[in-house]
Amino acid sequence: MKRTLIIGAGGVGRVVVHKCVQNADIFGKITLASRTIGKCEEIKNELPNADIEIRTVDADNTEALIELIQNSDADIVINVALPYQDLTIMDACIATKTPYLDTANYEHPDEAKFEYKEQWARDEQFKEAGIIGLLGSGFDPGVTNVFCAYAQKHYFDEIHTIDILDCNAGDHGYAFATNFNPEINLREVSANGRYWQKNEDGVGEWIETKPMEIKMLWDYPQVGEQDSYLLYHEEMESLVKHIKGLKRIRFFMTFSESYLTHMKCLENVGMLGIKPVMHKGVEIVPMEFLKTLLPDPASLGSRTKGKTNIGIVAEGIKKGKKRKVYIYQVSDHEKCYEEVKSQAVSYTTGVPAMIGAKLILEEKWSGEGVFNMEEFNPDLFMEELNLQGLPWQIEELEV
Ligand code: NDP
Repeated sequence: MKRTLIIGAGGVGRVVVHKCVQNADIFGKITLASRTIGKCEEIKNELPNADIEIRTVDADNTEALIELIQNSDADIVINVALPYQDLTIMDACIATKTPYLDTANYEHPDEAKFEYKEQWARDEQFKEAGIIGLLGSGFDPGVTNVFCAYAQKHYFDEIHTIDILDCNAGDHGYAFATNFNPEINLREVSANGRYWQKNEDGVGEWIETKPMEIKMLWDYPQVGEQDSYLLYHEEMESLVKHIKGLKRIRFFMTFSESYLTHMKCLENVGMLGIKPVMHKGVEIVPMEFLKTLLPDPASLGSRTKGKTNIGIVAEGIKKGKKRKVYIYQVSDHEKCYEEVKSQAVSYTTGVPAMIGAKLILEEKWSGEGVFNMEEFNPDLFMEELNLQGLPWQIEELEV
């Protein structure tokens, strides 16, 4: 019987545990480890008939992680803690020769860089250990990479442009809250935007924009028209390497007026700062303090109504003719909550994490080294999405 170690008992961790239990024949015995044992207990209690062991771990400590992996005898480590823990967990996987999977690129707590550099740098060590490291197996990154690979394989000879379109039209009734970890979410949104395009000489360049500088209106199927803002998003870094013929790639995310106004105010008064400041003789990080004040994303599940729609629009050439294809997935917050007690943002991240791990354990996705999602056969992943709760659609658009 296989053994699965899941690290992180937040919103995404809960979904991964529920989904692995639904596929218990593949995942076998599950160990759920996180910083706060109470959160692990809560998830275990939701699944009284499942074979789940819970542990506490400091995932910033590689030695503690090595001991945990050895004690749980894991065949795979699913990292759904925070991006700060990616490198320590990867190093523990190298030391114990255990396959690794995550859903977000490594970030240093003091400086957000949104890049794969330090994870890709471990490619040789993964090869030497003879193990696979699958990076970014969430929705975006994750499914969006798979959608691009699927479009490339079946719909195009060459893809010239890709727009990744991420819409969350969910309403939780709070004036302001973030759908996943506030620190990670607000860092992403308050940073400068960036997109990639080839210049006249055919050389790819990153073009930087001010936060929220570029806006477009997009009509999301089953949701309707929404203002969508250009952001930088990590999957573009690997997609520009792997999608042939690409000339431009951009990422857009929807935000409500109210969300942006709150964010602007918080930013103007310094509440999004990630460098410590002195407060009454004590060092505090403004963003961490803000996180303490905001609703826990895990608590939004029961209150959130509405849908998410995340997809890609790819434009290019097939047999000499221009073509434009839209691949997207719509999830309903309330249905997700009914099934696994989490809203759709955690659901759409946790399900692909489980699917990536399933394909690794079944040896359908295999290799030695560190990989991004679009490097594997997308068909298997696309089939699993339909079976595991994330059915997708394809539409041919007018060029
Ligand atoms: P949460 O903050 O809800 O959960 C994170 C969990 O990790 C918490 O249980 C937390 O413990 C635990 N944790 C944090 N630090 C440590 C540590 N040092 N040692 C042990 N455990 C630790 O986050 P989410 O569940 O919303 O997100 C999980 C991951 O998914 C993040 O990396 C996020 O960036 C990624 N994500 C990816 C998406 C995608 O589409 N690719 C979309 C959304 C999220 P405690 O409970 O004690 O705080």
